[in-house]
Amino acid sequence: MTAAASRLSYLDPARAEPWASFIEQIDRVAPHLGSLSRWIETLKHPKRILVVDVPIVRDDGAIAHYEGYRVQHNLSRGPGKGGVRFHAAVTLNEVMALAGWMTIKNAALGLPFGGAKGGVRIDPRGFSAAELERITRRYTSEIGIVIGPGKDIPAPDIGTSEQTMAWMMDTYSMNVGHTASGVVTGKPVALGGSLGRQEATGRGVYIAAREAGIRVGVPIDAARVVVQGFGNVGGIAARIFRENGAKVIALQDAEATLCNPAGIDIPAALAHAAAHGSLSGFFGAEPLGEEDFWQLECEYFVPAALEGQLTPERARGLRARVVVEGANGPTTPAADDILHERDILVIPDVLANAGGVTVSYFEWVQDFSSFFWSEEEINDRLESIMMKAFDAIWRLAQERKLSIRTAAFVIACKRVLAAREQRGLYP
Ligand code: GLU
Repeated sequence: MTAAASRLSYLDPARAEPWASFIEQIDRVAPHLGSLSRWIETLKHPKRILVVDVPIVRDDGAIAHYEGYRVQHNLSRGPGKGGVRFHAAVTLNEVMALAGWMTIKNAALGLPFGGAKGGVRIDPRGFSAAELERITRRYTSEIGIVIGPGKDIPAPDIGTSEQTMAWMMDTYSMNVGHTASGVVTGKPVALGGSLGRQEATGRGVYIAAREAGIRVGVPIDAARVVVQGFGNVGGIAARIFRENGAKVIALQDAEATLCNPAGIDIPAALAHAAAHGSLSGFFGAEPLGEEDFWQLECEYFVPAALEGQLTPERARGLRARVVVEGANGPTTPAADDILHERDILVIPDVLANAGGVTVSYFEWVQDFSSFFWSEEEINDRLESIMMKAFDAIWRLAQERKLSIRTAAFVIACKRVLAAREQRGLYP
């Protein structure tokens, strides 16, 4: 193959963000893996990629085709696990990176899963509920050959919800001829979903911030918090920060940037967003310039929207003590370096937003055993898994003078690559 032809490969990290960011993170960790670094290439090659056509009849009778993906990045430690994203800008490259981050996240937390992710390139706001149901069902049927309770278990992500998971579970169940509740997580509780799942990611973001704050002397109480993204992660994290005494001084979603130095009334903002679909028009805070948002002085900055938001330029202007990544991949590797030089602590996505998949794990276990836990049990177990992972990662970072991200990747990659080595290559 010529050099020019090889550059066209979907594996080429030079092609586009965010797969390039993931590859760079893997390259950075390679020197810390000892003899296991021999297997590092396995993390740069997704195990299995499925691209599917999703045709539906629109409400007006027109036929429309959409592109869907399911990427199983690595299955060495167990079945694939990761969400499904419905977003107008979803690409294969992005889904590959998101699947890679799931491999790292699941291993860093010690969950018995590999990493996977899916997506459909649509803006869900442009469709009726009936059309979304048809898209979801056709997509699920198309990826039905690679998912299953013991194979790969989807969950919600940006643009998908409990309702999406209910349709996915029903479609898969119809196709296999019996109810298979364990094929997805993040389902409604009435269908075998778990208590506490919906708010688990936001709760985990808060736990990660609190644990970081304890170690670097930045108490949550009275801390100023800035949150980008006001969906299931940012909205709930903001609420829990506030319940614990912090002051959320600024919020940004796809349509509005708002600031109130006295602290935003988060329940009122959540009610507004639920009623209007965005923060736009919320009167409990003043409008702020989109870029000024990145320069507000605060203790905690929580990017909880899309990847690649914290660019080098924004990293240079950021005036936060701690960044807690609610989103997947919000900080580019170059911005990471700048934050490190500027002594701004970053609690990485693979730790900070792992609360969601941790409770997904509990949901999957509950579905298998058909025995359901109380919300208190769920939240206690979430706390204990998150704190154990946080502590191990923090200690490794201190011992070896690594960033928290690199320490998390070292622990995770060692687990994945040790499994790879012990299993060996087939044939
Ligand atoms: N989409 C969430 C994430 O990025 C949850 C995945 C899951 O629960 O499987 O971690």
